[in-house]
Amino acid sequence: MRLVFVNLGYLAASVLFILTFKGLSHPRTAVRANLLGSIGMLIAVVATFLLLGGEGAAGYGVILGGMAVGGGIGALLALRIRMTAMPQMVALLNGFGGAASVLVAGAALLEALALGQVPSAQFTVATAAAGIIGAVTFFGSLVAFAKLEELIGGRPVLFPGQRGLNGGLLLGALGLGGWLVATPETAWLYAVIVAAAAVLGVTGVLPIGGADMPVVITLLNSYSGLAACATGFVLDNNMLIVAGSLVGASGIILTQIMCRAMNRPITNVLFGGVGPEVVTGTAAADVYAGKVKAASAEEIAMVLEAARRVVIVPGYGLAVAQAQHAVRDLASLLEARGVEVDFGIHPVAGRMPGHMNVLLAEADIPYEKVKEMDVVNPSFAQTDVVIVIGANDVVNPLARTDPTSPIAGMPILDVDKARTVIVIKRSLSPGFAGIPNPLFAADNTLMYFADGKQAVLDLIGAARQPA
Ligand code: NDP
Repeated sequence: MRLVFVNLGYLAASVLFILTFKGLSHPRTAVRANLLGSIGMLIAVVATFLLLGGEGAAGYGVILGGMAVGGGIGALLALRIRMTAMPQMVALLNGFGGAASVLVAGAALLEALALGQVPSAQFTVATAAAGIIGAVTFFGSLVAFAKLEELIGGRPVLFPGQRGLNGGLLLGALGLGGWLVATPETAWLYAVIVAAAAVLGVTGVLPIGGADMPVVITLLNSYSGLAACATGFVLDNNMLIVAGSLVGASGIILTQIMCRAMNRPITNVLFGGVGPEVVTGTAAADVYAGKVKAASAEEIAMVLEAARRVVIVPGYGLAVAQAQHAVRDLASLLEARGVEVDFGIHPVAGRMPGHMNVLLAEADIPYEKVKEMDVVNPSFAQTDVVIVIGANDVVNPLARTDPTSPIAGMPILDVDKARTVIVIKRSLSPGFAGIPNPLFAADNTLMYFADGKQAVLDLIGAARQPA
């Protein structure tokens, strides 16, 4: 009877998780979807306690204690984290999912051996899979965290024989996994498998850099789900299998969306060699020398006065400056004067998938004004003014013109096709990919050097001044 309730609970939680993923696909339904996911998780946890039953009661204290400590740390981090550090936190959370799978699968193996059981093939295959995928996820996520936190450089770290080493580590880990399946009583093999996969996680993510990090993050997200799914097979727990495969599958779909946005084949990412290996030689001095035109808020206000259609293109700097509310006010001011205002969003703008959509939604900017790259790109030629706020790589024409650039081939927002481009940023510093941007030196570009929020407030002030 207890099992019936457990399975009903798992079924309800699975349905809620599926509804969660459906809801998360649109900002309008995402908040409710998060709530559904939390309820699903609560049901899954309660059902798992029920599954432990009377004989597991001795362990309740330890589990609840662990949940309190872990939950407390998680809540504290979530409350204290800066909005701009969210991507790093997401990378870490992916990693912790992988680490949990490594530990749980390893503990299950040790327990089975201590009880004198001979683990089945399903058990050992799943254990090896959880160890490999989980360790790659954890250590790969640590490297991604370090790159996003700028503890190490964002550029690809390449060394001779890297692909051979990665291929060798993968084959080695798989071979050791096969050995574990053949001789399940050799528990130490698991530690060696995890060690090989840990090195693979580090050397697999190090060569990926520049603008290609979004793909890595979504892929690691997917891996964390696959590791949990494998652990579900170790424990014979349907809930973990369902939840893990949902995360794994949705992560792969997101990876494909990101790959399409970056114009990178997924095979390049899987085999750790994203982007061309030659980093561009285009020097900032050559690109900018004597060609950059800075404008004042009053001059820009005059340009805006004559505009009929304006597109606002936000990037990572919008998040740093927390300029989303000021941008909404600028858009409202222009609209009140009869100007048509849209927002153009690049899929990898910011530092995490959907970063800009979340910020704009926070400022109550209507969803129908927020246009994806494919939709907005054809309209730039008929746009009077584009205001680029804190975006750099996603509007960099080098992606089209320089085949040696780290962003070569990445589709960009074609803002340079508009009549006038106003770029708001603090300096001529490069973006995440670390390369100069010829857009800033283009004939039709005016630079406004200031913090994003202050700049928009200045523009609003200047636009309100009587002419
Ligand atoms: P970029 O990183 O290319 O550029 C951001 C720009 O914002 C900088 O040039 C910086 O210039 C400016 N900036 C920073 N702070 C402020 C501020 N307070 N006010 C105004 N401007 C500011 O951002 P994009 O959004 O164009 O591109 C995203 C990049 O990040 C891509 O390369 C993408 O691949 C990568 N990435 C994306 C992820 C994702 O999932 N979306 C994940 C990981 C990486 P200055 O210092 O001069 O002000």
